[in-house]
Amino acid sequence: MNKEGLTSEDTWNVSHSSSLYGLNRWGEKYFSINSLGNIVVKPKGENGETLDLFELVKELEGRNLKLPLLIRFDDILEDRIKSINTAFEQAIKKYKYEGIYQGVYPVKCNQQQQVVETLMKYGRPWNLGLEAGSKAELLIALSLISDPKALLICNGYKDKRYIETSILARQLGQQPILVIEQADEVERIIKASKELGAAPLIGIRGKLSTQSNGKWGESIGDKSKFGLSIPEILQTVESLKQANLLHELRLLHFHVGSQINDIAIFKDALQEAGQIYIELNKLGAPMGYLDVGGGLGIDYDGSQTSTAASTNYSLQNYANDVVATIQECCLGRDVSPPNLISESGRAITSHFSVLIFNILSESKVPSNVPSKPDSQECLIIKNLRETLNSINDFSDSSKVKITQLQEAWTDALKFKEDSLAAFRLGYMSILERSTAEQLTWACAKSLIREVEKINGQIIPKELQGLNYYLARTYYANLSIFRSAPDTWAINQLFPIMPIHRLREKPTNLGDFADLTCDSDGKLSSFINNGQVKPLLELHELKADESYLIGMFLGGAYQEVMGNSHNLFGSTNTAHIRLSNERSYKVNHVIRADSKADLLEAMEHNPKLVLERLRIASELAIQERRLSINDAQRLMEHIEISLRESTYLQE
Ligand SMILES: *Cc1c(COP(=O)(O)O)cnc(C)c1O
Repeated sequence: MNKEGLTSEDTWNVSHSSSLYGLNRWGEKYFSINSLGNIVVKPKGENGETLDLFELVKELEGRNLKLPLLIRFDDILEDRIKSINTAFEQAIKKYKYEGIYQGVYPVKCNQQQQVVETLMKYGRPWNLGLEAGSKAELLIALSLISDPKALLICNGYKDKRYIETSILARQLGQQPILVIEQADEVERIIKASKELGAAPLIGIRGKLSTQSNGKWGESIGDKSKFGLSIPEILQTVESLKQANLLHELRLLHFHVGSQINDIAIFKDALQEAGQIYIELNKLGAPMGYLDVGGGLGIDYDGSQTSTAASTNYSLQNYANDVVATIQECCLGRDVSPPNLISESGRAITSHFSVLIFNILSESKVPSNVPSKPDSQECLIIKNLRETLNSINDFSDSSKVKITQLQEAWTDALKFKEDSLAAFRLGYMSILERSTAEQLTWACAKSLIREVEKINGQIIPKELQGLNYYLARTYYANLSIFRSAPDTWAINQLFPIMPIHRLREKPTNLGDFADLTCDSDGKLSSFINNGQVKPLLELHELKADESYLIGMFLGGAYQEVMGNSHNLFGSTNTAHIRLSNERSYKVNHVIRADSKADLLEAMEHNPKLVLERLRIASELAIQERRLSINDAQRLMEHIEISLRESTYLQE
């Protein structure tokens, strides 16, 4: 058994909780637990102010921001930009690199207005730019870049309008770089330049042959959807030369995919890209920039391994490797080292938002021992009672063998099966079946207690799995399709844990079911230091206090990927900024979608919905099926409901 298993309820403390949920590993400098047993947030990192997350939620609820609630800590966003830039500054100093680093934020990671605007504001000291992957994102980028030094990397498929827009934006005073991703874009760029009599800054996205092991490994390699192969790159250079545009070729770009778990993948890609960069320079392109794309990963489970929910490198390792590898490539090659650009999205926005949801109720298997009736019980039930008694007798004897426990459990399962067969054939009443089930779970409960006492022996699988039988389902006021879509779509893991009661030992194991009617609407995979566990340690619900759970590190991709399955809309969102007087300010509030919003999104007309119901209730009044009072009550429910959010209210 692990340490937590042996810690009794009265010696449990917050550091046990911290290691149980891995908070001490994934929380970095931003999240920890205070002596009250609540999670605290340090939005500015180590030396900054702390906010008690539980208290903060209560205060936001007091401002009528009901759960589920997304809290965005703008200071964390600022700190992430600062951390990435500082890491590159240090690497450049360490290796005496002769170029500079300049980041761009890939808009697709989180396009919300308040997020991109906040990023642009806090990124100003580092000339943070933007990366657009579509025409709509280009519009956001064009309107939000005001720093003339900031870069605008134009990725994605490009038609004439996209190309012309970015050429004209250069004349507006911005620095858009059109990155050629498809071979046929070259001709369109040349044509547009001739027509406008103006040239764009040009980049090329290379299709590297380095293979990634990550989930998005297909983003590179010979079969990838994006980028130019080596022959296509050479052809492009030739076309640009003939069109007298080669002097505008400034940048080589590659992107190895998101959440790269293994730093070795980056190194291979950097070496290959470094060589292509040098060759392009030798072919006569001025170059100047190497854009290493995104992929900088997040250690979701804090295990520091190359497993899917982690990374085997730190931010500083990453920056060092980028700088050192490119430095080495250029050494003795008569090429000045390029200015380095990265397009980190996940690494900038993951930490700053925390999703808080409440638990509505729980379901558990009934494992209390049913009392014996006066009359005789049937043989199957008698057998189950005997099995239970024999397990409880183990408690008194000092030497219990694992095989005895194993045998007791196989017996109990056999009797349970017998009871089902008897019920199906009509030999057992529903009351007896219920007794049999309860006795089986009571056996499991007693067995768990005995198994926990066993030290230093290998516990067989079926006994390890006993907890699973007694696991509970916690019903969460949440739609995972809206708020954590990647848990469903690509089995991504996020740290999930209660944000309070962390002085108490969690006594139950459970998973979460969401509000949707979809059987996939569950959270049932949890971080486990490099592994995955199907159940999370959770507390017993209290009648008079809501149980609040936080999902952390979900600031990247979840919001835009989230969908309206079962018509659950956006949650309430609050932007928090620390203020000077040791307190905080709610900078922005974005109200949750109302039900009317969701109906309209599906082309329904909320007014018509209301009117149809009014007509129906009027008819019911006339036919004396419904009183005027009740009709009024029904209409009120509907009117108010249309205005309110799509989530449940306590
Ligand atoms: C998605 C994407 C990014 C962002 O990747 P992260 O792993 O989130 O940093 C950067 N560049 C391009 C071209 C992308 O498609």
